[in-house]
Amino acid sequence: MSTVKYSKELPVYRDVDVLVVGAGPAGIGAAVCAARNGAKTFVFDSAGCVGGMATNGLVGPFMTVYDAKSEKQIIKGIFEEIVDRMIERGGAIHPSEVRSGSSRAGFYIIGHDHVGPFDHETFKLVATEMILESGAELLLHTQFVDVLKEGDRIAGVIIANKDGMSVIRAKIIIDCTGDADVAARSGVRYELGRVEDGNMQPATLFFRVCNVDSERLAAHIKEHEHEIKPFYGPFSWLIREKQDEWDVPRAEVCLFESPEPGEYRLNVTRILDVDGTKAEDLTRAELEGMKQVHKVFDFLKKYAAGFENAKFMGTASTIGIRETRHIEGLYRLTADDVINCRVTDDTIAVMATNMDTHNRNDPGGTYFTLENGPYFGVPYPCLVPKGVSNLLVAGRAISADARAGAAIRMIPCCIVFGQAAGTAAALAIKDGRTPADVDVKGLRETLKEQGAFLGD
Ligand SMILES: Cc1cc2nc3c(=O)[nH]c(=O)nc-3n(C[C@H](O)[C@H](O)[C@H](O)COP(=O)(O)OP(=O)(O)OC[C@H]3O[C@@H](n4cnc5c(N)ncnc54)[C@H](O)[C@@H]3O)c2cc1C
Repeated sequence: MSTVKYSKELPVYRDVDVLVVGAGPAGIGAAVCAARNGAKTFVFDSAGCVGGMATNGLVGPFMTVYDAKSEKQIIKGIFEEIVDRMIERGGAIHPSEVRSGSSRAGFYIIGHDHVGPFDHETFKLVATEMILESGAELLLHTQFVDVLKEGDRIAGVIIANKDGMSVIRAKIIIDCTGDADVAARSGVRYELGRVEDGNMQPATLFFRVCNVDSERLAAHIKEHEHEIKPFYGPFSWLIREKQDEWDVPRAEVCLFESPEPGEYRLNVTRILDVDGTKAEDLTRAELEGMKQVHKVFDFLKKYAAGFENAKFMGTASTIGIRETRHIEGLYRLTADDVINCRVTDDTIAVMATNMDTHNRNDPGGTYFTLENGPYFGVPYPCLVPKGVSNLLVAGRAISADARAGAAIRMIPCCIVFGQAAGTAAALAIKDGRTPADVDVKGLRETLKEQGAFLGD
């Protein structure tokens, strides 16, 4: 590729304490909590609404927020506040009420007890209200472009939108882009997917249908429930039987009933070898995903019990990317930490989500459930990248190996990473410290005062 040189003076659009880049689950938690803890906070997103995968990606339900024995809710804090506000509006069902095997849990038994079904429009509304009520300033339709570095710190973040390019200066930046775009542009090292073989989990374009006969569907699935296991869930028997007419590299119809009866979101399409940090790959995935969606819907209408009168509601407005960069932080969470349910004294969130890795080359994957304990902890240093002094990373890109990353990527986990990062940034600024030097004991006390459960 040939190059050209481009140089220009840019206006400084804002000078703030905390800048949150990306307003998905992690960015929402980060912006609300940084602002509530007294920091002048600004958050922007390239999309036309907040929520990331939980709105534009149509992803859901909230994956389990209970411990591995399904006895106690362990992800709380700001996540619980969001869910309570959504329930008030009739846009969510509390995870305590949803049991595995039910239509809201996708009919899965393993790993799906106490998931949280929600309506993505309600999530959008509640999250936006909470950001604005916190005092954080929100700007949409704004893309992160690059950083201005001074030594080991980010002196400014270059943004681009309809107004052109400008700069936002901040004392601390929290990268919540999911892909660690800010960290990568700042020179933070990262792993792209799984280091051993470069595998990145496949992409999926979600879609929604309504008018499904849930009773008929549930009765049919009950007859086959002994066949359901991870990656070979609902209708895997139908796919085997009608293999010649099934043209999607997936062996199940992963479908979750929304709070609205008869309305389902479908996580079925599978686009392989997509690098979600490349625009050409993303474009191919969108086009291939759209093709697969219509093939799947036509197949279900023709053969699947309960789908006879189903109506197509639409596709997600963006392809779902499960995995890209895992940054190199001061600590890297490992699969071993997850499997052995380690909880350290610098833990900022505990969770019992399973290591759910979709394969690159076949319809299956590996699904590892926690058997050695009730939950594992995520240490604060996983959010602190090495080498840049005023940056934190929250969301699915935190410092974790690919297998541990497959467990911590769920929406509730990302929301509470955002809560920890936003709170840490505000405390660091109050104390005149860098993110790496934050008083972690004080941070944990503050998180607990805000309703978080940290395993003690
Ligand atoms: C197919 C699929 C199925 C899943 N299933 C479930 C499930 O059932 N339950 C569950 O709990 N989780 C599930 N997940 C995981 C979950 O949705 C994501 O891991 C989670 O949303 C990540 O949150 P995040 O805030 O890190 O990133 P995202 O949700 O990706 O949000 C990032 C935000 O940053 C913005 N952004 C990105 N780059 C830029 C930029 N350069 N400039 C400006 N803005 C930018 C984006 O527009 C977006 O709003 C699934 C994910 C996928 C893809």
